[in-house]
Amino acid sequence: MFNPRLSKRNSMKLWLFGLLAIFAGPALSLDVVATSSSMGALVRTVAPAANLTVLAEPDQDLHMLQAKPSMIRALRGADLVVAVGAELEVGWLPAASSSAANPGILPGREGYFEAAAQVPLLDVGGTADRARGDVHPAGNPHVDLDPVRMTQVATALGERMARLDSANATKYRRNAAHFADAVEGRVPGWQAQLADAPGVVLYHRDAVYLLERFGVPLLGTIEPIPGVPPSGRDLRNLAGKLRGRDGVIIHAPYQSPKGPRKLGRELGWSVKTLPLEPPVSADGDGYLRHIDRWVSTIAGAG
Ligand SMILES: [Zn+2]
Repeated sequence: MFNPRLSKRNSMKLWLFGLLAIFAGPALSLDVVATSSSMGALVRTVAPAANLTVLAEPDQDLHMLQAKPSMIRALRGADLVVAVGAELEVGWLPAASSSAANPGILPGREGYFEAAAQVPLLDVGGTADRARGDVHPAGNPHVDLDPVRMTQVATALGERMARLDSANATKYRRNAAHFADAVEGRVPGWQAQLADAPGVVLYHRDAVYLLERFGVPLLGTIEPIPGVPPSGRDLRNLAGKLRGRDGVIIHAPYQSPKGPRKLGRELGWSVKTLPLEPPVSADGDGYLRHIDRWVSTIAGAG
């Protein structure tokens, strides 16, 4: 809901950033709300001094969260919301944001940032639609497991923060560039580790960006359509298709282990449980360790 008084208050706050920067140095920090801990890790990397609130726990399904009063309170005072986007948070973030009476953080405004809007998306233009239960009708939103896309997101986030808080623009840009350098330095090692990976079955199409980045085959998904649980027949079909091959089955802690275990028994493959998100306190280094963990598991060493 639009509230001109609060909008004015936020404009005043941003204006104060500038004033304080001139007379007393930067004394205020950006108030940032990140929807997930991967987005939180980027915020900590680009703006370590920001006051950060992360809305979702790392073991929660971002497709399925519900708007809560604590989210609305955090959004009310935010200068910037950093979301994954591409409708990943569509079931709860718009509801929480519109209840927060803070128009500066609504989509289209300077205070709203989507990672997925900064990078090319996969799974765009498919035939499955929301009516069939597909939760990826706007393309695959899970860009955060691709470290290279995350460097592009960090650069764009640095630019956005530079506009919101120009006194610290140089720092934001420099921090984003450091993160990009750190990822670039790790890519050859990850690529080497994954060179012989036989392939992966995922529960949901949530790690496809990581697999695609390093050329690891996605052998199948437990869900027939993103967001739709498998039937016994779906699992039998998948097992029939994969019999005789080698691979690993990976699912998130909140995804039912039943289908993965059944398929694992049928195929003689190992089944691994891995969080999709880094720990809630992760910074850039924590994000890189999270990718390390995924890479090791896919390579068969985790
Ligand atoms: Zn999804």
